[in-house]
Amino acid sequence: MASVTILKEACKGIEDCGICIFVCPKDIFIESGRMNAAGYITPKLQNEDDCIKCQNCMIYCPDFAIIAEGKKEKSTEPEVEHE
Ligand code: SF4
Ligand code: SF4
Repeated sequence: MASVTILKEACKGIEDCGICIFVCPKDIFIESGRMNAAGYITPKLQNEDDCIKCQNCMIYCPDFAIIAEGKKEKSTEPEVEHE
């Protein structure tokens, strides 16, 4: 099982950012309805057991507000064709 942690106080909020919701292939992130100290509405986790440990969320979060632990099982990055 993966372990995904959201560092809420570092988050820029799903309205101003929301990248984690966009990049997660398993729709693990949803709106929490809660604000952090800076006034941003943060995401929360649902169905964390469905996480495939792709680490997209941690890689793409611009504010380093997500820690995704667990061994990466497969990449969801698009394949680049070489000529
Ligand atoms: S590691 Fe991948 S599947 Fe798991 S929460 Fe992050 S983006 Fe979603
Ligand atoms: S990608 Fe990071 S900063 Fe953006 S909403 Fe998700 S946790 Fe917050």
